[in-house]
Amino acid sequence: MRTLSNQSLPTINTLQDGFGRIHNNLRISVTDRCNLRCTYCMPEDVVFRDRSELLSFEEITHFVRVAAPLGIDKIRLTGGEPLMRRDLPTLVRMIVDIPGIRDIGLTTNGILLADQAQALYDAGLRRLNVSLDTLDPGRFRELTRRDGVEKVIAGMFAAKKAGFDPIKVNAVSIRGITDNDAVPLAQFCRENGFELRFIEYMPIGADSWEREKVFFAHEILDQLESAFGPIAPSPNYNPRSPAMDFDYSDGGGRVGIIASISRPFCRSCNRVRLTAEGKLRNCLFALDEVDVKPFLREQHDDEALAQTIRRNVAEKWEGHEINTAKFVKPERTMHTIGG
Ligand code: SAM
Repeated sequence: MRTLSNQSLPTINTLQDGFGRIHNNLRISVTDRCNLRCTYCMPEDVVFRDRSELLSFEEITHFVRVAAPLGIDKIRLTGGEPLMRRDLPTLVRMIVDIPGIRDIGLTTNGILLADQAQALYDAGLRRLNVSLDTLDPGRFRELTRRDGVEKVIAGMFAAKKAGFDPIKVNAVSIRGITDNDAVPLAQFCRENGFELRFIEYMPIGADSWEREKVFFAHEILDQLESAFGPIAPSPNYNPRSPAMDFDYSDGGGRVGIIASISRPFCRSCNRVRLTAEGKLRNCLFALDEVDVKPFLREQHDDEALAQTIRRNVAEKWEGHEINTAKFVKPERTMHTIGG
């Protein structure tokens, strides 16, 4: 665990690291629990944290209230599976009300979405990502170790009906497993107005990752072009977004690729992460983290908390180094960090 020195940091209202990257984007994990067991994300047998260890909604919003004046204006709720946290729309409403927060999103596996989509929309949530790697029930079971692809799809349509637009679909691409899913998923998303984004498989799960298993961005694009014709980089491509966006030339909408391995986007990273039990992490692959729960549960020293956030960002490393021999996989698996 990182220890903080007493040296004070400049009290400018931006969260800047040593490489000049400004951080405005906070991912908040609201639970480590999940109703799926995706092989690339978490083990089958897992002991979840006692609920008393998790930050309460008041503690989470306290953190956001301190972080917002430092420059955090964009929040994404994640997990574990965030829809397993009871009363999530209440938390959405509490965050929407915080001055300075201009954008709040949610990443979900969609299993519980059909029941909750309308309440989340009514609470003020507008950006929604649903994770779905395959439309095939057998492969869904193989990947998630559970059934439920039809629930995810029902959730996506319920979200559409509630008013979410766009709805992004996150699909992890793993060679030898999901190679044959890219085109059917893309076809489904094109036909139904969902925005598909492929994520290159990363070494952050409980399984044994190998570079050879990454089904690379350029290979996915080749498959999509063979099936649907030319694809061109989107004109309003956002360089700060991890996704490279492309448009189908036939007017079939947009598709994104998050090429974390073949084209790492660390140089433009603007993210910090708060785990469900209150650890602040300046990188998904960080090897150390800082415990901010004491500031929220016992101490209530907001200036010290603000300094801790500034210091955590200031100490951020250059990048994840997955493509070098120096890479060390973090002890935490994805579900305990928040993707
Ligand atoms: N349970 C929610 C969900 O499934 O969207 C939120 C948490 S999940 C950890 C967030 C995202 O991380 C999902 O889109 C998931 O596919 C992705 N993910 C998990 N493990 C991954 C890995 N090893 N490589 C790439 N993406 C991964």
